Amino acid sequence: TQYVYKFGGGVAEGSADDRNLLGGKGANLAEMAAIGLPVPPGFTISTEMCTRYYDDGERFPESLKADVAAGVKHIEAITGKSFGGADDPLLVSVRSGARVSMPGMMDTVLNLGLNDATVAGLASISGDERFAWDSYRRFIQMYSDVVLGLEHDLFEEALEIIKEDNGFFLDTEMESSHWQALVGEYKEIVEREWGKPFPQDAEEQLWGAISAVFGSWQSERAKVYRRLNDIPADWGTAVNVQAMVFGNMGETSATGVAFTRNPSDGTHAYYGEWLVNAQGEDVVAGIRTPQYLTKAAREEAGAKPLSMEEAMPETYAELARVFDLLEAHYRDMQDIEFTVERGQLWMLQTRSGKRTAKAALKIAVDMAGEGLISEQEAVLRVDPMALDQLLHPTLDPDAARDVLTNGLPASPGAASGVIVFDADTAERRNEMGDSVILVRVETSPEDIHGMHAAKGILTARGGMTSHAAVVARGMGRPCVSGAGGLTIDAKAGTLTITGREFREGDVLTIDGSTGEVMAGEVPTIQPELVGDFGTLMGWADKVRRLAVRTNAETPLDCQTARDFGAEGIGLCRTEHMFFDSARITAVRQMILAENEEGRRAALAKLLPEQRADFARIFEIMVGLPVTIRLLDPPLHEFLPHGEAEFAEVAEAADVGVETLKRRVAELHEFNPMLGHRGCRLGVTYPEIYEMQARAIFEAACDVAEASGEAPIPEVMIPLVATRKELALMRDVVDSTAKAVFAEKGREIAYLVGTMIELPRAALMADHIANEGEFFSFGTNDLTQTALGVSRDDAARFLGQYVDKGIYPRDPFVSLDIEGVGQLIEIAVEKGRATRPDIKLGICGEHGGDPASIAFCDHVGLDYVSASPYRVPIARLAAAQAAL
Ligand code: PEP
Ligand code: MG
Repeated sequence: TQYVYKFGGGVAEGSADDRNLLGGKGANLAEMAAIGLPVPPGFTISTEMCTRYYDDGERFPESLKADVAAGVKHIEAITGKSFGGADDPLLVSVRSGARVSMPGMMDTVLNLGLNDATVAGLASISGDERFAWDSYRRFIQMYSDVVLGLEHDLFEEALEIIKEDNGFFLDTEMESSHWQALVGEYKEIVEREWGKPFPQDAEEQLWGAISAVFGSWQSERAKVYRRLNDIPADWGTAVNVQAMVFGNMGETSATGVAFTRNPSDGTHAYYGEWLVNAQGEDVVAGIRTPQYLTKAAREEAGAKPLSMEEAMPETYAELARVFDLLEAHYRDMQDIEFTVERGQLWMLQTRSGKRTAKAALKIAVDMAGEGLISEQEAVLRVDPMALDQLLHPTLDPDAARDVLTNGLPASPGAASGVIVFDADTAERRNEMGDSVILVRVETSPEDIHGMHAAKGILTARGGMTSHAAVVARGMGRPCVSGAGGLTIDAKAGTLTITGREFREGDVLTIDGSTGEVMAGEVPTIQPELVGDFGTLMGWADKVRRLAVRTNAETPLDCQTARDFGAEGIGLCRTEHMFFDSARITAVRQMILAENEEGRRAALAKLLPEQRADFARIFEIMVGLPVTIRLLDPPLHEFLPHGEAEFAEVAEAADVGVETLKRRVAELHEFNPMLGHRGCRLGVTYPEIYEMQARAIFEAACDVAEASGEAPIPEVMIPLVATRKELALMRDVVDSTAKAVFAEKGREIAYLVGTMIELPRAALMADHIANEGEFFSFGTNDLTQTALGVSRDDAARFLGQYVDKGIYPRDPFVSLDIEGVGQLIEIAVEKGRATRPDIKLGICGEHGGDPASIAFCDHVGLDYVSASPYRVPIARLAAAQAAL
């Protein structure tokens, strides 16, 4: 097996197609080398080696030694430098690179190859002693942190002390002798803390770094990131070893990161940041404030320091040519890292750039317009789940705002919440139900869990490409970064903004689209789904086969869903109407009644209420099918459980407290999810279903009468296991319909069908299909019953199941295709065998999950039904499934 792949100097042993093998960075370095771009030479150790390394107990095979040595020879041959050589030393970077980018999650070592001898060589070759010693101290610092695992702060402190002793404020004031002295201090720290002197042998340094980068794949923060982003542990990372080029060799050197289009709003303009005389880390880490790449951006921001376009016009022009070439080559927006070493441009990385949902939409639609991609490719370019960012409210432009300061609009969207100053508190308060704004000087990979828990992120330092900005955009969290005038005292738990003090728990609002930071909560408005969104959805609708309905019962939800493009109701849960505070008393009287007569009397009070509910839904969903499910949950859910409530409820329902307590005790179930619920209620108390059916048909007739357009009701029976259950319930519905139609003097076409929520129902679908015209897969219950896992209790242990890889994802979120999927396939096949035109849909939560939707398309369902805010997501996912 080949584990080492070389690139640069006219060689490219891999290509962009090898991302699984070489990681994203390695594959694209090879690709750039292949198309003739200036890439410093290097080699990639494949992800397969990472897997093997872990399989073999964190050891490398003997053969890797020779392969790595050959890789180093390749770099030496092209650069003319020698690794570990004292005269013209070759320095390398060692970086991780997984299949998908995991920003800041894994380790990097720069300037590797420096030691007490080579530092002198570097000084004389570069003619810059200060630079050489600065590089050496950076290397010791990074290597000690990443490879030796020593406390980062020890090194920072030593630097601060030297600066203080000399009365320096900035690193730039440090001279060669100071850096040299610091190197001495650093080496002492290493010897003291690590117990051995800092490794001087370049070979040994290299193997230390390679092991550390492979090792960082299993670091805690990488694991958390993988879990949040559904990245399997067995993908592994590659390791890239590459000749160093230096952006910190004086005023003709620079480093920067850039996007070929704006990653925040998608505008078609180069977009980036750069720093003269700096190394890449300086831009990303927010240590120095980066400057604008283009003149236009600088002028718009009113900033002083020259843009790259102005300061280095020739190199900039060359860079712009590379941007265009890369975008045309990859046919996608690129995120690029580059370095200029003494006027010579070097490309260090390119990849498809992370972008906000807004930018993703605009870029996809624009690129289709430019003829760079097809409409269908545009549909495939947008992650359906990312649309979520666009579907949520934005700040009301007419509301009053108490603006405290302005930062960079790092990740769009608005968020209000209580401020907290560390990630753990963010997580804790989020679990308590608070909306949280995480406020940090700057964020680091250790903050990931807190950023995830927060509704928004605010930082005092860092640019548009800082850790906070990149991660927030990836997560879809609003973020304002680099907000000036922010003073954070995390110990005291205070934040001061332009003289006003805020404490943990005070409410702030941030607008990541404008950079505004505001005191208090600012009201929001619903987004309008027009422009690029409408265009892309139109293209999606052209190609999808699955219809998309919604799960909704309130008029507001129904209207929202219809505005989002729902093509009917796939699940109206009628019990939600029973819980209504105005009706709960009649519901309780019905449950507490001693006989059928008493129950009917209470149901008669509910009839007009339900009828009005259904009429509203039919009006909103005019012209579209409406699936109404009859009562599902066990009756005791409607009764009080706490002692405190008994007296009050007994009085309202006009029964004695003792009677109420007795009924509560009688209705108690050990396993209510498998108890007296679903159609079992209809079997034992048919008058309940009869009342509901009557409400449906009376409402349908009334709406048809008033509007001239007949509603399309589909009556759905829950939790059916046998043909006979459905036959009995269908009789109740049919005879009620007949009676209502006779009374009203009109007929309405309707369907009766069942949910498939039990394994037995799936297995007996051929029998059950005799009695119903449609099946709707209730995959919440079907998952619960097939896995034997309680949907209400699973949260306590399912997280661990996913961490341990027992299920790849939470099976209540994304369908267990292997298992539950088989039951669906069986039911589809058997249902169609009996009734070829049977209508098939899904209404469990999975109906809004893209991976599950792809499966539904594959097995040939007719529609999926999702909650209102998931409707656009489902439309796009259905289109992608069809392509
Ligand atoms: C289901 O079980 O998947 C379903 C949609 O019904 P509910 O969630 O109401 O039990
Ligand atoms: Mg159910």
